[in-house]
Amino acid sequence: MQTSWVLPVRSLVNKPGHMEQLDFDVSLEEPWGTEMVTIPAGDDVSVEIRLESVHEGILVTGEAFGVAKTECSRCLQPLDHGFRVAFQELFAYSGQLEDELTVIDNTVDIDQVVRDSVVISFPFQPVCDENCLGLCAKCGANLNEHPNHVHEDEIDPRWAELKKLKEEE
Ligand SMILES: [Zn+2]
Ligand SMILES: [Zn+2]
Repeated sequence: MQTSWVLPVRSLVNKPGHMEQLDFDVSLEEPWGTEMVTIPAGDDVSVEIRLESVHEGILVTGEAFGVAKTECSRCLQPLDHGFRVAFQELFAYSGQLEDELTVIDNTVDIDQVVRDSVVISFPFQPVCDENCLGLCAKCGANLNEHPNHVHEDEIDPRWAELKKLKEEE
């Protein structure tokens, strides 16, 4: 049972045309995400993956899915952000470029590939609803729950002006 990002590919190495399909979950050892949206350590990221042996190496194609934690950028309510993202990467037998991913000891390590595709898909400003009204600038009340609330000290500016005049008298 596959439970880590390091996948054994021994049975595929140097066998172009062969392929393998894997579905598995990995429990994260550290949180993944941005300041705004995070998958906490200990939570699972699921993947459905196809490993294909090609001449140059192992081609990894798949989808990752799960649920990240965030909050609405307007009303600050906690939110679950469900995601499903696709990724594809070639792990070469011999790396030509410095940042090229390679097959090492008959394994491919897809941690960075999956992590990058997942994190880049996260929204910068998540909202609980496109029509979320956010918080009252005055008292911080959730305007979705109290859309018509008023403040006692809210005096029509024209009256405030009159009041001022009266006080000056
Ligand atoms: Zn909201
Ligand atoms: Zn208010």
